[in-house]
Amino acid sequence: MQERIIGCTKCGGEMTRGQLNFVQVTATKGKGFFDGTAQSTVSCYVCPECGYCELYADKYKEFKK
Ligand SMILES: [Zn+2]
Repeated sequence: MQERIIGCTKCGGEMTRGQLNFVQVTATKGKGFFDGTAQSTVSCYVCPECGYCELYADKYKEFKK
């Protein structure tokens, strides 16, 4: 996954990337009922100013196919 620059929505600080080990998200692919599911590991961005965390699926594009 490409690096993102993410501003904290709580305090405006610049968030730093971390990794959640052994965590995956599974979701339906595409919009059709028979498109199946995809999986992705998850990255966590944490704000060093206030501790707020956001989660992002690393392979989020897999869910569009
Ligand atoms: Zn913050």
